[in-house]
Amino acid sequence: MAAGARSYGLVIGGREEPGHRGETRGVLNPATNAPFAEVAVADADDARHAMEAADAAFHESAWASDDGTRRARALFALARLLEDRQEAFARLETENMGKTLKEARIDVGFVVRTLEYVGGLADKIQGETIPVPGSRFDYTLREPLGVTVHIAPWNYPLLLAMRSVAPALAAGNAVVLKPASLTPLSAIAIARLAHDAGIPDGILNVVNGAGGAVGDALVRDPRCRSVSFTGSAEVGVRIAEVAAGRLLPVTLELGGKSPVLVFPDADLDRAARGIALGIFQNAGQMCWAASRLAVHESVRDDLLGRVRKIAEATRIGPGADEGVEMGPVVSREQESRILGYIEAARRDGGTVVVGGGRSTDPHLAAGNFVLPTIVADVPPASRAVREEIFGPVLSAVSFADADDAVRIANDTAYGLFASVWTRDLATAHAIARRLEAGMVSVNEPPITFPQTPFAGFKQSGLGFEQGIRVVENYTRRKNVVVNLGAAKRKG
Ligand code: NAD
Repeated sequence: MAAGARSYGLVIGGREEPGHRGETRGVLNPATNAPFAEVAVADADDARHAMEAADAAFHESAWASDDGTRRARALFALARLLEDRQEAFARLETENMGKTLKEARIDVGFVVRTLEYVGGLADKIQGETIPVPGSRFDYTLREPLGVTVHIAPWNYPLLLAMRSVAPALAAGNAVVLKPASLTPLSAIAIARLAHDAGIPDGILNVVNGAGGAVGDALVRDPRCRSVSFTGSAEVGVRIAEVAAGRLLPVTLELGGKSPVLVFPDADLDRAARGIALGIFQNAGQMCWAASRLAVHESVRDDLLGRVRKIAEATRIGPGADEGVEMGPVVSREQESRILGYIEAARRDGGTVVVGGGRSTDPHLAAGNFVLPTIVADVPPASRAVREEIFGPVLSAVSFADADDAVRIANDTAYGLFASVWTRDLATAHAIARRLEAGMVSVNEPPITFPQTPFAGFKQSGLGFEQGIRVVENYTRRKNVVVNLGAAKRKG
């Protein structure tokens, strides 16, 4: 580790501290694979310590019992503190994860809006009165759950962590967040702001560490009242199994293999730009990456030619360099996974239209730079078509008619997102209904807002994040019936 490297600890009970074993790890910049910061690494005991601190804060502070106005104000204050530091957070995210500064600024902006949105919901959590027979008064209460556990992936480190943490806080819970081991810095950095925002110490805790040890210990801890997990389907299923043993509510936001359907009447220029954004943004490391293109056979060559041109013109480089349009992928390991899938696509009979490997630019040799890639006509049974690649790799096939298009789109274990490009309204709505995906966009690349639910069908998940009902995920409903004991009215 270079002298003067920044160091980051575990945030437990309002204090930033080393793990009890004092273990640290160097954090690498994916553009160079050089370490630029050092982070404390927790073990299962530290995880339990964080759960204990959260539980104590939940019971001893007035966070849960105060009316929601206080929590709303704290979330708005956190939004302002983050917005004031938007550039610093964006740079940190770029340095740690590799994405371009432009992408990182958008992510931080999304978190600011999420805090504002759920902050606005914090004082609107309410029950209902229910008419019941006899002389009784019946009502429901919406209560926080207690300590909620949040486990985040590395592709949108701050955004995906705060997407579930913010509503859990709005509902009055105490939170323990475990960021991905590769990208823990922005989660720790935002937890440092919690105290100044008016969030009591111990209500927002962050423990960095290995998923199998720390994540597992958090989920198994008896104080854990719910788990919000964003990550791979494989780990999501494992967490659901552990949670099932204790009947814990879980929200699972998992992977995808999202289709994009282009009909012959589509605006091909817009579609091409949308397709490129849907797969090359964030270097393709998106759960909802629109990674399977199906285009009507009559416009196939035209469309592929347009997307190829965009891929060829994409400026690749370190995410921190202004003007760069695609940064490195997160790690060497991720790079070789992606290259392995490209190789499988080739071996299985696909034709590489553009890209197909690492960048050969000598200036980029130290980083993890994969070229934007299109592979055409990969057979549907190939693992490059069936499995999530999580890189800038688009597979493309053509379809003959709408039924064929829908069949191709739904031929996947996943069901996170799908997009349709057509100028015909009837086609757009009819196809949207037939797609097995939790989110569909028409004439738009993947796009979401704090106001809209984010949810996957099939192997893409369980439950949802975002949207006006999200805060309810982090509450439980209690029914209270009161016998008024009043004498029966005569007559
Ligand atoms: P991952 O499943 O490997 O890890 C996700 C998190 O789980 C990490 O923090 C990891 O440390 C932790 N973890 C690992 N094993 C665990 C265990 N046994 N118990 C508890 N926690 C454990 O995923 P990743 O590689 O970090 O992220 C990429 C995946 O995330 C892709 O599959 C992607 O599609 C998915 N993802 C989904 C969404 C969505 O909203 N649906 C968004 C982004 C990413």
